[in-house]
Amino acid sequence: MMQQKYVSQIHRCFRCGYCKFPTDYSSFNCPPYRRFRFETYSTGGRLWLIYAWLKGEVEWSEHLAEILYTCTTCKNCTEQCPMKFAPDIVDWIVGARSDMVEKGRIPPRVARFFEAVYGYGNPLKLLRSDRAAWANGTKMYAPGDEYLLYVGCLGSYDENGQKMAKSLVDVFNAAGVSFGILGSGEECCGNEIYMLGEMGLFQTLVEKNSQKFKELGVKKIVTLCPHGYNAMKNRYPALGASFEVYHYTQLLNDLIKKNRVKPSPNKAKVTYQDPCFLGRYNQIYEEPRQVLRSIPGVELVEMEKNRADAFCCGGGGGNFIMDLLAGGEESPARVRVREAYETGANILAVACPSCLTMFSDAVKAEDLDGKLAVKDISQIVKKSLPAKK
Ligand code: SF4
Ligand code: SF4
Repeated sequence: MMQQKYVSQIHRCFRCGYCKFPTDYSSFNCPPYRRFRFETYSTGGRLWLIYAWLKGEVEWSEHLAEILYTCTTCKNCTEQCPMKFAPDIVDWIVGARSDMVEKGRIPPRVARFFEAVYGYGNPLKLLRSDRAAWANGTKMYAPGDEYLLYVGCLGSYDENGQKMAKSLVDVFNAAGVSFGILGSGEECCGNEIYMLGEMGLFQTLVEKNSQKFKELGVKKIVTLCPHGYNAMKNRYPALGASFEVYHYTQLLNDLIKKNRVKPSPNKAKVTYQDPCFLGRYNQIYEEPRQVLRSIPGVELVEMEKNRADAFCCGGGGGNFIMDLLAGGEESPARVRVREAYETGANILAVACPSCLTMFSDAVKAEDLDGKLAVKDISQIVKKSLPAKK
């Protein structure tokens, strides 16, 4: 339910539009606004729509709800809005969505997302029993293992996510990391469920996962996906969970510093996409870059919009599955791969399974196959491991 304090503040947005831009105002940086170019799809437009809906000045419609759900929760607006309420903007949008969920007034694509997670434990509606079909003998977590590798829904089921998971497992094994996975015992982390406003389902997922972690005595979790990292780092503790959480790039950086992973030369010009849930949500900007720089022969070049100014791939807030931003030349992922290509890089490095698939598809649509490869950092490090003797 949208908190009353939000209702009394939301009208303070005066639609100045700063939130549409990156720091240097060079281009539009709110993905749905960039995609559709109508004011209603910008942060300010969306906030005014919410206010009008709360005051009964506009009727609910599926179109109104879809506009709210095109927000990818990328948090660019929070970075750029000059008002004191800036840190609350995404909470306002999520709060309005949760009101719509409570009233049962959500677009069909959002309803299908919830039904899939409710019934199958993942938004792709794939069998629970197949959750570890990718794992090929990867060890199940047992009490005493140092880390639980939380693979997440995309790592478990998405073709690109599975490639990431396999690469990371190979790197961890080569470094002698003590870890295991949950296999079919793993549930969706719930990050997108929270962002889409289904708070009851979110709580159920947190309870199920936390219970499992507790039963197994898990103390440290390393996640493949920034979305899972964000949920477990910032939302699970408020619901009673207690464990350390790392994104895999943090652990890889540590392993490289301790000489447990020694990348061999791999000549490439690489640019890096900051995932929203690592960067703007958790200020993890340097560790992924340090991992890339530690590979001899890698030249790291930055896109004009990087770190807190990075442009979202368009897959956040459930849009990886729901695709409310649709395709087309101005889809965020296609805009971003053009920006990556302009740097002269031959590899666009990512640290998120959602970014990996969004950009892999966009590279094909932009006809950049063979010119710009999209690789996750886990795959790049795996490739640079010395060959086994
Ligand atoms: S959210 Fe902030 S930056 Fe955006 S239009 Fe409103 S007041 Fe301006
Ligand atoms: S969170 Fe991102 S997509 Fe949503 S309104 Fe803010 S800038 Fe736009």
